[in-house]
Amino acid sequence: MTTEKKYPLPTSEQENIEEALGVLWHQSELMENRLEVILPLLEETVNKEIYKTLISKELLKEENNKILLTEKGENLAKDITRRHRLAERLLSDVLALSSQAIDPNACKLEHIISTEVAESICTLLGHPTQCPHGSLIPKGDCCEKATETIEPIITSLDKCTPGSKGKIAYLILQNHPDLHKLLSLGLIPGTPFNLHQTFPTYVIEAGETTLALEKEIAEKIFVRQ
Ligand SMILES: [Zn+2]
Ligand SMILES: [Zn+2]
Ligand SMILES: [Zn+2]
Repeated sequence: MTTEKKYPLPTSEQENIEEALGVLWHQSELMENRLEVILPLLEETVNKEIYKTLISKELLKEENNKILLTEKGENLAKDITRRHRLAERLLSDVLALSSQAIDPNACKLEHIISTEVAESICTLLGHPTQCPHGSLIPKGDCCEKATETIEPIITSLDKCTPGSKGKIAYLILQNHPDLHKLLSLGLIPGTPFNLHQTFPTYVIEAGETTLALEKEIAEKIFVRQ
């Protein structure tokens, strides 16, 4: 007698393909497509056979010692990257896992999260645009739609009304000159805040300090209410 699983977990081959495509997507963000760089990287992060597998499944092609994702490969790579980076946000912002625990767990979750679950996580987190490492999260259908059925639990400060209270979740100001200043003034993830006014500037009390912020900065501060 054979029993079939109703909702099978991804096979290890499928997981390896997804892992490899995630690596390739990241390399494409770094503008790297040279075969001599990509090949050892795939061997190291996945295994020796994966390159041939990707070629045979028409996810990848090789031209003049450069590797190119096919349309099918690019779509899958974008999707797995989206699931990985949303998982990172979920683990760090909502579950508050330590940074060492985020990567291995995001790497497992990305293969299990379905498109529907990814959309719900994305909506719940207020359609984040960056992962905790500052990499871009590819947009999904949910990010384009105006109507939201799930109330996000993380929102940017500019969308809060005066009197809002909560905790700072994260700041997306990686390359912004004000980032370190804001951190040193107490806008550290986890700090309770109180938003006093939103016009003409955002006046926020956080920890020991009260700060007046421009809208441009308020848009980059994400809070949990
Ligand atoms: Zn992974
Ligand atoms: Zn990341
Ligand atoms: Zn979204």
